[in-house]
Amino acid sequence: MAQLASSDGLTRGIMPELPEVETVVRGLRKDVVGRTFRAMPVITPGQIVTPSSDAFAARLTGQCVETLWRRGKYVIFDLSSDALLVHLKMTGRLYVSHKWQAEGADKYVRFVFELDNRHKLIFSDLRKLGRLHLVSRADDVVGALGPEPLSDDFTLDVFRSLMAQRRGTIKPLLLNQRFIAGIGNIYADEALWLAKVDPRRKSDSLKLDEVDRLYHAIREVLLEGIRHEGASIDWYRKPDGTTGEQQDHFSAYGREDEPCPRCEATISKIRLGQRGTHFCPACQS
Ligand SMILES: [Zn+2]
Repeated sequence: MAQLASSDGLTRGIMPELPEVETVVRGLRKDVVGRTFRAMPVITPGQIVTPSSDAFAARLTGQCVETLWRRGKYVIFDLSSDALLVHLKMTGRLYVSHKWQAEGADKYVRFVFELDNRHKLIFSDLRKLGRLHLVSRADDVVGALGPEPLSDDFTLDVFRSLMAQRRGTIKPLLLNQRFIAGIGNIYADEALWLAKVDPRRKSDSLKLDEVDRLYHAIREVLLEGIRHEGASIDWYRKPDGTTGEQQDHFSAYGREDEPCPRCEATISKIRLGQRGTHFCPACQS
């Protein structure tokens, strides 16, 4: 795992996934729900998708945060009359300023949202790839996403029927946010390892028992990721500035050339759909 701890992760593009974004939402909730946005002394216009950067601060100011939740990889602030959606992309971080570091210590602050209790909600983003949307309904942005894999509605029958409608290679399918929301490269590799399914398989070649194993594996790896508060491989941190622990519990992801925890064959790393893909060639078939 030595190379995972290096800055290599930045160039490989490791994005927060469902467990990381869920951890951010849980960590922020008590500091922002019920608070009202005041001034916005810092904004980075290029990261605002909608509305115009001129309108953004004016429309946000005075709105109260009613709930904070997650859909896929989006952080969603339900406000008095609008919804603010933040996608962290590779290096976005959301935190409340009194929690982590003295003001000025973070060189990558792109947005400062002053709150009515004098605290500040900070959006920091080294690479400026994160995106903010201020819209009247969250569904304007997230309406086309696939189901939430941890919701009660995402049953085994739902997954079977989604799989029956699709063709194509299974790993890229799991990464398709319109198929299922929230899964990225890490948890796709982990779920396929746990389900003993080769990531190169065609999705319509999976037998029913393999589909069932994959369904349970997806939910299990995501729940485990949340339990360990996400994977801090390079940039992701919890809103209190500390690291998640999931990187210490990977079975396949980042384990190339190490023994498979299940069968002790050597974990391989290949390129699949332009993504680094880790799997055990012996026990994933
Ligand atoms: Zn194995």
